Amino acid sequence: MNSKPEKFRKAKLRTLLLLIAAAAILGILLSGCVPTTSSQITINLSEAIALSKSGNIQNVVVNTSSGSMTIKAAVAGAPLSITDTNGNTVQVKDGDLLTTNIDSLNIADLQTMGFVLPADYSTNAASSGSSVGNILIVIIPLLLFVGLIWFLMRAGRSAQNQALSFGRSKARLISGDRPLVTFADVAGAEEAKEDLREVVEFLRNRHKFQDIGATIPKGVLLVGPPGTGKTLLARAVAGEANAPFFSVSGSEFVEMFVGVGAARVRDLFDQAKRNSPAIIFIDEIDAVGRLRSGAIPGSHEEREQTLNQILVEMDGFDPNIGVVVLAATNRVDVLDPALLRPGRFDRRVTLDRPNTAERGAILGIHAKGKKLDESVDLATIAKETHGFSGADLANLVNEAAILAVRRNKSSIGMEELEESIDRVIAGPERKSLRVNPRDRETTAYHEAGHALVARMLANVDPVHKISIVARGTMGGYTRLLTEDRYFMTASQFKDTLAVLMAGHAAEKMMFGEVSTGPHSDIRQATEIARRMVTDYGMSEKLGLRTFGRQPTSSYLGLGPAEEKDYSEEIAKQIDEEVHSITESAHQVATKVLHENKPRLIHIAEKLLVTETLEGPELEAAFTEPLSEKGDQTLKKSTTQETSGSASKN
Ligand code: ADP
Ligand code: MG
Ligand code: ZN
Repeated sequence: MNSKPEKFRKAKLRTLLLLIAAAAILGILLSGCVPTTSSQITINLSEAIALSKSGNIQNVVVNTSSGSMTIKAAVAGAPLSITDTNGNTVQVKDGDLLTTNIDSLNIADLQTMGFVLPADYSTNAASSGSSVGNILIVIIPLLLFVGLIWFLMRAGRSAQNQALSFGRSKARLISGDRPLVTFADVAGAEEAKEDLREVVEFLRNRHKFQDIGATIPKGVLLVGPPGTGKTLLARAVAGEANAPFFSVSGSEFVEMFVGVGAARVRDLFDQAKRNSPAIIFIDEIDAVGRLRSGAIPGSHEEREQTLNQILVEMDGFDPNIGVVVLAATNRVDVLDPALLRPGRFDRRVTLDRPNTAERGAILGIHAKGKKLDESVDLATIAKETHGFSGADLANLVNEAAILAVRRNKSSIGMEELEESIDRVIAGPERKSLRVNPRDRETTAYHEAGHALVARMLANVDPVHKISIVARGTMGGYTRLLTEDRYFMTASQFKDTLAVLMAGHAAEKMMFGEVSTGPHSDIRQATEIARRMVTDYGMSEKLGLRTFGRQPTSSYLGLGPAEEKDYSEEIAKQIDEEVHSITESAHQVATKVLHENKPRLIHIAEKLLVTETLEGPELEAAFTEPLSEKGDQTLKKSTTQETSGSASKN
């Protein structure tokens, strides 16, 4: 390091500090000649904004150097009762002066936060007189301020100073400049909204709760799979409460240097407390809040310090100050129990994947402002999108809009929405892919097999669409119209397994051998069968118990996925049971296909011509009388292309 400029800078810093001290003394001396007001009511910025909206302000003096704003109240008739910063209710008469802490916000900032500026306003108390003292009060801090900024900007270029700014939180303040999100923008999730309404109520008028002596939870944990609207809901709480929203992501705390995360946490809470009532939102809290136990060394200590700081801050602040901490995670199982203790994140709001009605509502919200065709029926789309999250649905509507534009249409039609579902599930069509005739035929029989078995078995959802158009990594697919359900019965599992096995069974029956096509079906079937045995107690042989335990600690998913809590002998029995379940599912599929072989051929033949079957065409493929002709064409094509394969077994 170079020592000469270093000394130079230190000298400069010293003169600057001297200057500041001198100015401060001067300021204090001079402030004696400014008339002070007798009634000093200090209110929060949100209260000031509310007053401005209701037109209860005569004039405003904004003092950016001291970071405050003085408001002269306009009250016609009876005094107005408002809440001051201490949470007390005070009576405000016409002409009363109110002060508000505005930190470093300027008039433009205030306006974006919703402050309605009266016609009579001024900056920096210059209007109160033209005495030398007043001018000096305005000018000296201003000069100092400019000087300080200049100094900091210069110093900021050195690496040293960058290290200092590490400790500052990167929290983003979201206020009026963003389109406001309210509960109306969140569809479904009624229970979650109900739980959070209380928090909103608290932020809006704290003293009501304080009067009764009720304490509000400091921390609320939003739990749910990705894309179910956790971030959206947190922003909606801020929007509803009209409170500033400090948002930060857990992963932003995790830095290379030990101690930085902790400093950021401190800064974040300080910022929020200064702006109370306010909301702190920590997204992906699992990034810092994971269980503290033998994890990877190194990264571990920083995480722990950050987590400890969060715990300290949460314990430290008075619940009545009006700061509520919301946090979101999709892995509540890995969180440190210390975070979930009373006084911290002891409230939990769970968000789930939406059901059919909720999906319809979410689609409705995202279709707003987009031109939809008259043919569009969102309820049908909702039925077809089982398992989609809110984010998937938002994406779906947007994809459809883009498709409509690409097709030069003036509005979004049902075709675009249907196409987008396929895209979200399986990826875009791969039109350029040249599928050879043999593969195409294999795919057609494979998918026809799935569809036919699904149709013939009682405990399976109805078939909605069959396609042999290649998408993403799939050669083709069969889509069922899945219902909302909380439970699966053993017979539903068994029939589902038979449907999964049907692709393989059809290939085997028609061609005498199988391709690599069914590999993911088989994997999926094995997984289901294993869970039937080990998790759901659906095996009569092994009885009602679970096998295998989730490990209590696994950092970043390392280490074994499951702890074995059974003997080798049981392990062998589990394997046998899984095998027998998948085997009998395969037998069911084969039996159904053998009994309906002409129908299978009919569907596959149709698929080879039209590529996709859905709606009335699909229904016809299942029910229309079979012609001899269909059978004939098949025999011809199979003997041509698969010489030697036993298509009659
Ligand atoms: P998460 O934080 O749970 O991963 P987000 O809140 O970021 O999910 O959701 C992503 C997007 O999905 C939102 O911006 C919104 O457009 C959409 N979305 C999710 N859930 C809903 C919902 N319940 N209602 C309306 N839109 C939703
Ligand atoms: Mg999120
Ligand atoms: Zn398949």
